[in-house]
Amino acid sequence: IYILGIETSCDETAASIVKNGTEIISNVVASQIESHKRFGGVVPEIASRHHVEQITLVIEEALQLAAMEPHQLNAVAVTEGPGLVGALLIGVNAAKAFAFAHQLPLVGVHHIAGHIYANRLEQEMEFPLLALVISGGHTELIYMKEHGDFTVIGETRDDAAGEAYDKVARTLDLPYPGGPHIDRLAHASDEAIAFPRIWLEEGSYDFSFSGLKSSVLNYMHNAAQRGEKIAPEHVAAGFQNSVVEVVTGKMLRAAEEYKVQQVIAAGGVAANKGLRSSLESVFKEKEIPFYIPSLPLCTDNAAMIAAAGTVMYEKGLYGTMAMNGRPGMPLTSWI
Ligand code: ATP
Ligand code: MG
Ligand code: FE
Repeated sequence: IYILGIETSCDETAASIVKNGTEIISNVVASQIESHKRFGGVVPEIASRHHVEQITLVIEEALQLAAMEPHQLNAVAVTEGPGLVGALLIGVNAAKAFAFAHQLPLVGVHHIAGHIYANRLEQEMEFPLLALVISGGHTELIYMKEHGDFTVIGETRDDAAGEAYDKVARTLDLPYPGGPHIDRLAHASDEAIAFPRIWLEEGSYDFSFSGLKSSVLNYMHNAAQRGEKIAPEHVAAGFQNSVVEVVTGKMLRAAEEYKVQQVIAAGGVAANKGLRSSLESVFKEKEIPFYIPSLPLCTDNAAMIAAAGTVMYEKGLYGTMAMNGRPGMPLTSWI
């Protein structure tokens, strides 16, 4: 089975061809980071315009790199939601046009299901499974009993982790996206400011990062008022320690409560060195297999959409020509 995947939910225009849901044949990603950098975040109007300019080229390149013709494909899978509505619409309409022109089935994929299925491009998924999706727009813990069975057991009540990273980075005058810069500073620091750990109610798997972000901002503000010089690396390390400790703690507790066979993480923040090494060491100690896909599959890409779309295609879950971008699409199981 060969599936063409298309992803345009945020600021990456991406197309990919995946074989049998497990093997990448081609994977093209056009990033817009340079265009959004000077605004310190993704500007929806600019994102949409870039997607319009790039989408046809990116799809053609994915076919060319795979040395395939459209008639050799079995279906087109596209991110239906969630995401920026104007951005989603470009991908959905490109997918509909392609499917119509080449008489292919259309499959609408949930972006988070895509992030989870990115793992399947590198190793087989074992169930029951616990997945963390941690990125600029999402922080969610998902329990899966089997393929296509998703239960969201925890999610952020305010900012996504990546969003908090980017906002804290901004106050430290680091360039956008700030996550990697904080990570680097934290790694090099010999000291860490003590910021609070936001655990929420006992037993909750939800997250909250806005309180932590405010603590960091208050710390900076107070230091500035007293005329003290702050050490950015101490702030970065303190912030990162808090995020890593809470995320690791909640994941470990969930993995044990749900007795999972495998734990996976995905999303841009899963690239974080501190988080990676913390998760690797606790799950190694508990002897629970833990995986993070390689970086290009952690961040937004279309191979993950094709991988998830393959399982949906096999289940006969086709969309129609009435498909629309769904910015608030819920993650539902593929029954
Ligand atoms: P979505 O939530 O829809 O996937 P997104 O495009 O914002 O949207 P990604 O592209 O997966 O998400 O990830 C980008 C985010 O990851 C940014 O917030 C960025 O700062 C963060 N990030 C990247 N590398 C690191 C790192 N090493 N440490 C912490 N955060 C990081
Ligand atoms: Mg992105
Ligand atoms: Fe994403």
